[in-house]
Amino acid sequence: MPNLLKTTVLATSIALSACSASPTGRNQLLLFSDQDMSSLGAQSFDQMKQQQKVSTDKKVNAYVQCVAKSVTSQVPKQPGFNEWEVVVFDSDQVNAFALPGGKIGVYTGLLKVAKNEDQLATVIGHEIAHVLADHSNERLSQSQLANAGLQITNIALGSSEYAQYRGATMAALGLGLQYGVLLPYGRTQESEADIVGLEIMAKAGFDPTESISLWKNMAAASGGQQPPELLSTHPSHSTRIQDLSAKINTLPNYGAQKPNCSKS
Ligand SMILES: [Zn+2]
Repeated sequence: MPNLLKTTVLATSIALSACSASPTGRNQLLLFSDQDMSSLGAQSFDQMKQQQKVSTDKKVNAYVQCVAKSVTSQVPKQPGFNEWEVVVFDSDQVNAFALPGGKIGVYTGLLKVAKNEDQLATVIGHEIAHVLADHSNERLSQSQLANAGLQITNIALGSSEYAQYRGATMAALGLGLQYGVLLPYGRTQESEADIVGLEIMAKAGFDPTESISLWKNMAAASGGQQPPELLSTHPSHSTRIQDLSAKINTLPNYGAQKPNCSKS
């Protein structure tokens, strides 16, 4: 069979078997199982912990854990893990991430831009929403289609064969900055993470209107010498603030008590 035809047949049979709907009802192509994604996430997280400095500052850890726990308490139980693991990295990077398998990383540099618990909850909610919406599975599936035949999960994780795909895998997980392969989330995924993330943080009792201040702070910080790393994988779009305002107006009063996560 000619290559092009082979690819088309493969793509068609994959598309028929792996279609799914995102939390906002969008059709998604997901080629990897929850277990595959969880083990990729957990393995990548282990690497991050080995390669980057973990913060031992008790106050900062308590603050980030408090906000993250409050947010994750609103997320339905996910397949493959019981609790979300939260690690604070000691770095000036203005960055944060969440990985399949229940892993959350927050960089201390982010706390200068996310100035209060509501703004930090905005970022954590947004990152978790990317996980809940299977965005890394989707991104990896798209790159898989582009290189039909490449079966990342058929290769033993950590093997030398896998090493050549690590950059692409990390990029799909949103960790590309650390590995020199950048894959910014697309506009659709960003909007979806904004909407789903806002619902989660509001349910946890945080103030959703602070999401506007967060993204304004992020924009202001991007004028400086070191633009926020978060914006390189989570690009802001011109209607983000408008879209957030519209979403905030439709949120019900969840009646949740505001968590007491003081910064100092
Ligand atoms: Zn994002």
